[in-house]
Amino acid sequence: MNPYIDDDLATLAEHARRFATGRVAPGFLERDKTRVLDRALMREMGEMGFIAPELPEQYGGQGLGCLAAGVIHEEIARADLSISYINLLASLNGQILAQHGKAEVVKPWLDKLTQGQALLAIALTEPRGGSDAANLRLKMERVGDHYVLNGEKTSISAADQADAAVVFARTGSVESGAHGVSAVLVPMDLPGITRNRFDCHGQRAIGRGSLFFENVKVPVDHLLGQEGKGFVQVMQGFDFSRALIGLQVLAVARVALEETWEYVAQRQAFGQPLSAFQGVSHPLADFDTQVVAARLLCLQTLWLKDKGAPHTAEAAMCKWWGPKLAYDVVHQCLLMFGHGGYDHGLMEQRLRDVLGFQIGDGTAQIMKTIIARTRAGRAAVPA
Ligand SMILES: Cc1cc2nc3c(=O)[nH]c(=O)nc-3n(C[C@H](O)[C@H](O)[C@H](O)COP(=O)(O)OP(=O)(O)OC[C@H]3O[C@@H](n4cnc5c(N)ncnc54)[C@H](O)[C@@H]3O)c2cc1C
Repeated sequence: MNPYIDDDLATLAEHARRFATGRVAPGFLERDKTRVLDRALMREMGEMGFIAPELPEQYGGQGLGCLAAGVIHEEIARADLSISYINLLASLNGQILAQHGKAEVVKPWLDKLTQGQALLAIALTEPRGGSDAANLRLKMERVGDHYVLNGEKTSISAADQADAAVVFARTGSVESGAHGVSAVLVPMDLPGITRNRFDCHGQRAIGRGSLFFENVKVPVDHLLGQEGKGFVQVMQGFDFSRALIGLQVLAVARVALEETWEYVAQRQAFGQPLSAFQGVSHPLADFDTQVVAARLLCLQTLWLKDKGAPHTAEAAMCKWWGPKLAYDVVHQCLLMFGHGGYDHGLMEQRLRDVLGFQIGDGTAQIMKTIIARTRAGRAAVPA
């Protein structure tokens, strides 16, 4: 029980947990080896109404709040963090398309997205750097009724599995910084696009890779937001995904803690359960406390979003604290399993999976700069 999750949301979460336990969890270890996101499972998630339920009904959603998206997201992530990328990417890209796209262009994509028939990537990072995101160079020039894209994006989640991507590109001069950046929806089957796949440490079913654009022609009506305003307008959607990422990794930490409490209560050493030793139970109690607090922060952030209240600093807090805490928790849990924790299996895969989010979607340093800017003002925290 907590103030953000009412009876309806609790029922929705239970429903999602039944599905995740029965359909998602069984393939968790196997998908890490095959590195393929299960499209049939994605379609099932769509049919169950689990993908981007916060989108308006005319775009295939259910008009539920962002908290509804959050509680479903937690349940899927608890079973397999890679599969919950489907939810994360759909909620982030879905909101961007619904708010900034032309209805006739984005509606077919949003319908497919919510039905689990399409996967959309978000392409911001470039080889020269991700933290200084406004300094991007991928070129987008208007030629008649098309934009022509040239350049490279890298470290893009689902790069080789996505059906389309929201791509941030430079329409203005390099000197214009964030004000010369536009966002555009790019179907991945357009001529001139090639892509690859990295050998990632974790999150292997979703994967990461590069996208290469060589004279790729995208119709001008695929622009998202106004030309030159993509960075400022479209990137506001990241506040939503940052709270979702917090819940996503903390869901992994929570299931790790549950299994570890159970294990240390039954495993014996020196004639007693492991949990009888404070060296075992107190670190777990410390982490359990912090996970409860961090999860409440994430839920509060989504609640603020649902209320239309500012939540940029809170979202950045979720994004730096959640992944760091989740990593430390799973690490501690793994150690509690002794030598068994070091085998390939649930804990070590979880550890690899959650680590990625200390980098992906912005590092802790960048999140703390966002918090500092919100509190002290942009002039006082220029970079
Ligand atoms: C699992 C994963 C998934 C990802 N998915 C996507 C995706 O879907 N789409 C996408 O566009 N990108 C994605 N990325 C890329 C990610 O967003 C970038 O890696 C990240 O923003 C950091 O950029 P960088 O790797 O270029 O590091 P750099 O920007 O080169 O930074 C290197 C180090 O320096 C630190 N640093 C940089 N600037 C400062 C500063 N001003 N103050 C203090 N420290 C600083 C950083 O915190 C970092 O520790 C993903 C990355 C990972 C690991």
